Amino acid sequence: MEIVNHLLSNAIFVKSPNFSDRTMPAEIIILHCISLPEGDYGNNNVRDLFLNRLNLNSHETFMSLKNVSVSSHLFIKRTGEIIQFVPFDKVAWHAGVSDYRGRNDCNEFSIGIELEGTIKDYFEDIQYEKLNEIICCLRKEYRQMEVVGHKDVAPSRKLDPGEKFDWERLNVVK
Ligand SMILES: [Zn+2]
Repeated sequence: MEIVNHLLSNAIFVKSPNFSDRTMPAEIIILHCISLPEGDYGNNNVRDLFLNRLNLNSHETFMSLKNVSVSSHLFIKRTGEIIQFVPFDKVAWHAGVSDYRGRNDCNEFSIGIELEGTIKDYFEDIQYEKLNEIICCLRKEYRQMEVVGHKDVAPSRKLDPGEKFDWERLNVVK
């Protein structure tokens, strides 16, 4: 696994329109979990959401996603497949209102990684494997970025990646 032109070599790159230019370097990695509908795995709904192509009528819970423009740099499926939506030198839109050590708007200085899952489910071994490889790659290519959860930067709104996410399985200091 390597990074070429700000893209992960073994990810499928599907360009999301939801990104902006960086005005400062990425300094942290923010971990999330997502599935649409929640707990339903193996479909293309998350990809479609990040491409602004999700059919909102296909599930009753999707109406809340109307006019929502979001993305992440990477999405790691439960099979280990990785999709990249935004090059690492651009800002992806995943953190929302957030704060990291007194700095707002964490999207601006982070890389966002979504794991296919929910805050109630365990994650797959292959997801930890891929995540570790990715973190290693990102640190080598850019800088020694700290890895935090979405809940760490938006504690009043968010719980992901959830209590079942095992931080001990990251070969990195959080
Ligand atoms: Zn999140």
